[in-house]
Amino acid sequence: MHPWLIRNKMRLFRSIIQLCVFLIVFGVLFDLAFAAIIVPFIQPTGAPYTTVAGAYDILLTSLAFGIFPLLAIGIILLTAVFLGRTPCAWACPFGFVEDLLSYIRPKKHVKPITRQNDNSLRQIRLYILIATILISTIIGIRRLQRSSTGIVGAFGPFANNSFAPIDPAATLFSFLPHFFANILFFLPPSYEKLYQLGGWPVLLWIRVAVLVIIVLVSVYVPRAWCRYFCPLGGILGYCGKYGLLTLKRNPIRCPKGECDDCMKVCPMGVRLLDTGAGEELEKVRDDNCILCLECVNACKHDALSLSFI
Ligand code: SF4
Ligand code: SF4
Repeated sequence: MHPWLIRNKMRLFRSIIQLCVFLIVFGVLFDLAFAAIIVPFIQPTGAPYTTVAGAYDILLTSLAFGIFPLLAIGIILLTAVFLGRTPCAWACPFGFVEDLLSYIRPKKHVKPITRQNDNSLRQIRLYILIATILISTIIGIRRLQRSSTGIVGAFGPFANNSFAPIDPAATLFSFLPHFFANILFFLPPSYEKLYQLGGWPVLLWIRVAVLVIIVLVSVYVPRAWCRYFCPLGGILGYCGKYGLLTLKRNPIRCPKGECDDCMKVCPMGVRLLDTGAGEELEKVRDDNCILCLECVNACKHDALSLSFI
């Protein structure tokens, strides 16, 4: 087998699974029916052709209508406990788009992030999580009190999902397809239409700018959005870190300091050799580990393995 194929076989295998999931998620294109399944990854509910609904969108929309999002919370927490961030590596369509960049990114373009910057940047998704949940909860409470006109007016089309303006997946999979469908097939291209479609021009431009910035940054920092910004990835990571499915490192097979092949291939910048607490089999407990298994494939000493419990 060609050395490139041996080195990248896990990445290729994962890409095939991601592509299959992508086709199922947007399966209405191929006559699949909308299944009303809530999935534990970012998937905008307004996306054309989607067969499923993202748990985080459902969570925020329920809160914004004053409904306790029991089902969405349950799905997110159960996923975190049993699967950790596995959906991020193997199923999320936006994660797939970010991963596709790895095939065209020259190695020298990957920018190493210092541990201090990495730790600080991880806080951003926590702020996004708190802000979006808080805004939706306040809107929901106002709606229950029947005094929501002012706040709903202030948030305009995003009152029902405060995450959408900064969610690159919603822009890529929902807003842009709707926009181009209107421009190309139904309406003459004009700034007025752009205005009407967005309903809120400044936020519309912010949405497109966020998507472009995220894609550009992801060329230099693999999975930049998933590492530092995605609130759902954050919840799955914080809870999944202590969940049942983990990566284990055998310190006898892997004496630290001899190589760092695993860290070089990790798309999430996890410092595998810095985790663990000196146990016989050290658990890799890092909230950015998405269990993509690329490190397992890269380890020449067979020191890494997936373990349940
Ligand atoms: S962290 Fe990335 S892969 Fe995981 S749900 Fe968010 S966008 Fe998807
Ligand atoms: S530590 Fe290994 S399994 Fe986890 S994200 Fe990095 S390469 Fe993937």
